[in-house]
Amino acid sequence: MRIFAIANQKGGVGKTTTAINLAAGVAILGKRVLLIDSDPQANATSGLGAEVAEGHLYHLLLGEIQAQELLRETEVPGLLLLPAQIDLIGVEAELLGFKGRERCLAQGLFPLAERFDYCFIDCPPSLGLLTINALSAAHGVIIPLQCEYYALEGLGLLVQTIRRVKQSLNPRLFIQGLVLTMYDKRNRLTHQVRREVTNHFGQLVYQTVIPRNVRLSEAPSHGKPIFLYDVHSRGAMAYMELAKEFLKREMIRREKKKSAGKRS
Ligand code: ADP
Ligand code: MG
Repeated sequence: MRIFAIANQKGGVGKTTTAINLAAGVAILGKRVLLIDSDPQANATSGLGAEVAEGHLYHLLLGEIQAQELLRETEVPGLLLLPAQIDLIGVEAELLGFKGRERCLAQGLFPLAERFDYCFIDCPPSLGLLTINALSAAHGVIIPLQCEYYALEGLGLLVQTIRRVKQSLNPRLFIQGLVLTMYDKRNRLTHQVRREVTNHFGQLVYQTVIPRNVRLSEAPSHGKPIFLYDVHSRGAMAYMELAKEFLKREMIRREKKKSAGKRS
């Protein structure tokens, strides 16, 4: 199971929308996918129409319930959800006393390693212990950026945090890509942000951009990913493109690894 944290400590940049729809897109393309809701606001959970239940991420992190028992089916075949609930908000304080508190998620996910191909973690809008746990468990990070004036603000701190986690907790960690969200091609500022982000991050920026699309903002209130709400919307097409680009990057990485292995 390859694990990807969808992270940006800014709120409202499209993390949850990307987590739900990228996970759904990859599942529709035939992979076995797990989506983990790691935000106490539980928007990914409600956005997939999951009902409130007893067990959720809180119990996994505290080692009270096994991951297998927390999985929920979704309307998308092949996509399962490990939900969150508002009381997840207390978990950071509770974990503070734990030894290895940054690795609780990584440990909790271990039993699922053979069960899924991909796992996406929807992070909260902070760089607290929940995000650190996601980064410690992950292979890669996907960073959504909203195309607005302050898009790059705070990005330095995020990149620095990723670097620190890589050095101290999780040497395999890398940034898989940055995705521009709420893109409005009629707006000059949007183009400026794209240029600036590309200047900084080059090839790391996905070719696919996610347009501002009202269908994407409506889908969660129906408890559905965009593909089950309006498959012909521009939002759906963009997230399907992103899912393909994501898988392509994974394939290229595998090939590179293979040929590096042959050479050595
Ligand atoms: P985050 O998880 O980073 O806080 P969300 O994914 O919840 O961000 O997005 C913030 C708000 O913007 C939500 O109301 C969401 O429905 C809306 N939104 C996200 N992406 C788009 C988009 N591409 N077009 C229109 N609305 C969007
Ligand atoms: Mg969110």
